[in-house]
Amino acid sequence: MTEETYDYDVRCRTCRTIFKVQLFDSHDKNLFVAAKKDWYCEKCKKAYFSKQTEELTKAHKEIGLPELTGTRKMISWGVKVRGELINKVKYLQQSLSFINDEEKELSEKAFERFFKEWQEQTVAKWWVDNRKMNVRDISIRIKEITENLKKN
Ligand SMILES: [Zn+2]
Repeated sequence: MTEETYDYDVRCRTCRTIFKVQLFDSHDKNLFVAAKKDWYCEKCKKAYFSKQTEELTKAHKEIGLPELTGTRKMISWGVKVRGELINKVKYLQQSLSFINDEEKELSEKAFERFFKEWQEQTVAKWWVDNRKMNVRDISIRIKEITENLKKN
């Protein structure tokens, strides 16, 4: 088998440019994948990511979160992680129930403080490093903040 066996011509879905990809399954399967999969050339992939990053950044700005700093790649990744984490916070907030108004107010304050902590995180890498943060982690931090609020 020569190396060329693995090279397949595919067409970018966006700009219709034909480019080569390497596929390593059986020839029949490779042909199928080359024809059926949605392929995007490097240029369009980059454009897609910057557009996605731009849109997420804009949406985050609207809810008060700052633009991220770092390399292009880190910003693009960080902003995506931040979007996912925001959804986890929303999910948590919606799943809570309270026994009285006082408790509800306290919780709202805790979420506000929590959000403020996030507003201070402007380095994209911080978000990437925290990409594994789950609803439970967020819930624990909210509880800590709530306890502190109770003391004051
Ligand atoms: Zn393209």
